[in-house]
Amino acid sequence: MESLLNELKNRLYEVADFEHAASVLSWDMATYMPQGGAPRRGRSISTMSRLRHERFTDKAIGHLLDQLEPLVAGLPYDDDNAALVRRTRKEYDKAVKVPSELVGRVSSHISGLYDAWTRARPANDFASLAPMLEKELDLYREVSDCFPGYKHVNDPHIDGEDAGFTVETIRAVFSKLRSELVPIVQAIAEKADPSDDAPIRQLFPISGQEAFGLRVSRDYGYDFQRGRQDLTHHPFATRFAHGDVRITTRYKEQYLGDGLFGTLHESGHAMYEQGIAAALDGTPLGHGTSNGVHESQSRTWENIVGRSLPFWEHYYPALQETFPDALKDVPLERFYLAINAVKPSLIRVDADEVTYNLHVMIRFDLEADLMDGTLSVRDLPEVWQTRYDSDLGVTAPDDRDGVLQDVHWYDGIIGYFQGYTLGNIMSAQFYNAALAAHPYLPDHFRQGKFDTLHTWLKENIYQHGGKYTADELLARITGSSLDTAPWIQYIRTKYGALYGI
Ligand code: ZN
Repeated sequence: MESLLNELKNRLYEVADFEHAASVLSWDMATYMPQGGAPRRGRSISTMSRLRHERFTDKAIGHLLDQLEPLVAGLPYDDDNAALVRRTRKEYDKAVKVPSELVGRVSSHISGLYDAWTRARPANDFASLAPMLEKELDLYREVSDCFPGYKHVNDPHIDGEDAGFTVETIRAVFSKLRSELVPIVQAIAEKADPSDDAPIRQLFPISGQEAFGLRVSRDYGYDFQRGRQDLTHHPFATRFAHGDVRITTRYKEQYLGDGLFGTLHESGHAMYEQGIAAALDGTPLGHGTSNGVHESQSRTWENIVGRSLPFWEHYYPALQETFPDALKDVPLERFYLAINAVKPSLIRVDADEVTYNLHVMIRFDLEADLMDGTLSVRDLPEVWQTRYDSDLGVTAPDDRDGVLQDVHWYDGIIGYFQGYTLGNIMSAQFYNAALAAHPYLPDHFRQGKFDTLHTWLKENIYQHGGKYTADELLARITGSSLDTAPWIQYIRTKYGALYGI
């Protein structure tokens, strides 16, 4: 068995090398590449993606899995090798259904579309992107057709991000959550003042924002010997290898929230990837297990920790020292309200914790409708406005803050939105389990100590990488399945106190 496993791993390492190359090329494209590099870069990324797919779908890997499956059958379920064979089989069986040539075409189109988006957004020019978006949707439908038998055409893409979920099952989760959430949003709206967030909408010099964000990120436990932060249009985290997990961010001089909470969010993603056992690197187990679990980690460090009062009892004096002009006369309690101000807004990534999931629900529905053809690309900007008006009561002045606001649909990130809300829900479930094990966590945050939580997350979630599914992790850690109640309870408690409701 040993030699078969070694052969499988060596082949998987080679697959990971192509993935590594494609990821570095994409990261560079999103950070430092001059605009003139775009056409050729698109081709290079496409070639790497196609070659990766060819190597992974090589019949030899299928044959090795056939031979290994009976041999690992007697091993415990959580044995690394048993898990490797199990997860590789799942991904292999999906990958072989999609021709490598199609993978290359998708990748090539996406690079061009991403490049076009970086120019179309500042120019408020959705019309120039529309034909490329249509073509992208065609390509993604073509991928879906490699998985005959789906109920909704977006199901195969959702399954790729959050295995086991479909448009139908996600809508059931969303509708329950919405029914509990909307009354809270309405109750807060009666108490909220539009100027609640004014203290963080002042001048915050970017050098100070950068230094402060990096300091917290280090304190959290993001290891900069194995990581770094750079600037981009739309923040993300990316893993090249166990020893190289990077984040990106962006800053607005007149708004503290974007850069600071963006950095904390991406640090959460990166710490998850850095915490995966080194032995799993370069295999299908060497990544976070699902989009939802990943978001649960970024949202934990961004919100549950980073927007909590104990956290700011520790950091606020230092923040005031960094930005004396803006904050010296703003008391802690006022600042705490500002970073948690509930205010229906146009931009998802800037949304407060309470209304954030309403953005996700809109995007999830619009994307499903685009994919199944109920909604045409031509009508998208108008339907977008209608949904934002009816669900959040806001209207974007133009497409920059509307349909062009984020990179998702222009970067091939299809089948993805549900993960944000699943992540919020799971973040509360996991955090409650951490709190049960360490009831004094908030006191540690108050002292600027994060290793208790970080260690607990590493032991219970990070180290396992892709070994357990999201459902298995929930069952192991919380003894239950996906449950909206802890998150709703978290929101009720926190915002009940903030807004007196
Ligand atoms: Zn994220």
